[in-house]
Amino acid sequence: MKIGFFGVGHMGAPMLKNLIKAGHQVRAFDLVPELLASAVAAGAESGESLAHTVQGADVVISMLPSANAVRSLYLDERGILNAILPDALIIDCSTIDAATAKDVAEIVAKSGRSMIDAPVSGGVGGATAGTLTFICGGEDQAIERARPILECMGKNIFHAGSNGAGQTAKICNNMLLAIHMLGTCEALQLGVDNGLDPKVLSDIMQASSGRNWSLELYNPWPGVMENVPASKDYEGGFAVNLMNKDLTLAMDAALRSASRTPMGSLAKSLYGVHGSQGNGSLDFSSIQTLFGKIEE
Ligand code: NAD
Repeated sequence: MKIGFFGVGHMGAPMLKNLIKAGHQVRAFDLVPELLASAVAAGAESGESLAHTVQGADVVISMLPSANAVRSLYLDERGILNAILPDALIIDCSTIDAATAKDVAEIVAKSGRSMIDAPVSGGVGGATAGTLTFICGGEDQAIERARPILECMGKNIFHAGSNGAGQTAKICNNMLLAIHMLGTCEALQLGVDNGLDPKVLSDIMQASSGRNWSLELYNPWPGVMENVPASKDYEGGFAVNLMNKDLTLAMDAALRSASRTPMGSLAKSLYGVHGSQGNGSLDFSSIQTLFGKIEE
């Protein structure tokens, strides 16, 4: 297939590589020339302009940082919607608010084209290994059309509901991730402060009722687990800034639906403080350091 791909940053670059590996012809575009050059070195064609990137494309994929970037890419005066073939499928993999995803998809549908939201879980590691989870919102037929393309980049493809539902499911998941990471950090700190070895405590909780994903695969205490950000000075992984973005989206959704999310709200405050202390680009498990005792 011919694919137009927008946004070859941390996630987009490895996703694009997997599409090329699967034999697709990909034309890429990014606002950062160096990133576009890396995509070309990986086998993509260079999009010379927004419109050129989608010329003749069967599928258009975007992996962008924000709702504004998505709306403006498709719908601005210089946006690409009218340059996209009428029977092409549009897949937005960015994490944005559900209301924008729904709104943009509705405008796209009025133009006769089809669009789904397909935010991902699995991080840069999952994008590189081609094992992402895609959490999709849109019509059945559009999701089924997208499936073979998504399968080149991921191993789990879920259909959460209509347009926007993929985004809603994604932020519910990430709010829960923030909460169980915080709970894990708090429990580890309590144990260590009371004389326990963090590795021994982790083994105990992992085999007990406190077991959760953060403990099992992403232990936040440095040195307990190999090959996780905590053991690499919290470098790489999923940035605190991105967790803050997702928690903001979750709290916005909660306001809109008048949902009670006290744990999410506390998680947002704690991650907000942590980010504002200069930790925004560190992995989100670095929130462990917020629980450390201040040294006298
Ligand atoms: P990133 O900032 O590394 O990449 C985004 C890229 O989009 C940048 O290179 C930027 O130059 C480019 N861009 C912005 N506007 C553009 C436009 N109009 N046209 C073309 N390119 C444009 O971000 P990322 O870490 O790759 O994340 C991308 C999305 O995936 C975000 O919505 C993020 O929340 C989500 N996400 C990230 C992770 C992760 O671990 N990094 C995990 C899951 C989901």
